[in-house]
Amino acid sequence: MATFPLQIGTPDGLLFDGEVERVVCRTITGDLAILTGHCNYVTALGMGEAHIVLPDGTRRNAACIGGMLSMMNGSCRLLATTWEWQEDIDRERAEAAKERAQAKLNETGISEKDYKILSAKLQRALVRLSVTR
Ligand code: ATP
Repeated sequence: MATFPLQIGTPDGLLFDGEVERVVCRTITGDLAILTGHCNYVTALGMGEAHIVLPDGTRRNAACIGGMLSMMNGSCRLLATTWEWQEDIDRERAEAAKERAQAKLNETGISEKDYKILSAKLQRALVRLSVTR
């Protein structure tokens, strides 16, 4: 299958630089799959499961949490706030983060600001758990 160049970066550095058959991720408006020949395109990323497919067919799963993706003249750049490969995710930590967030969300009298922060924390934990299920 045809491939295209993909770079995946985070504030911590370049996590991937190579050819892929496909990149799939969650944007703020829904799931997106990029294949060779995709038109020029820019979008903001949401929180969700993501994966890439390498030229030999290997699939690498990841948690993708926010950022931007661009496809320009056949090259894709994904600059994520957080991109964690499945094998790097600590499932126990995510379970604990989920429990903590849920417990705090169940407390009475939390502010709107804390509600938003805790909801985002819970969502991140759920994404990590779904990637490592
Ligand atoms: P926690 O409460 O466990 O810190 P969090 O959702 O608040 O979870 P983040 O602020 O999203 O954590 O991430 C802080 C840093 O820790 C980032 O570098 C992120 O990649 C890493 N990280 C967070 N949770 C995990 C996890 N379960 N496994 C691996 N790395 C994680």
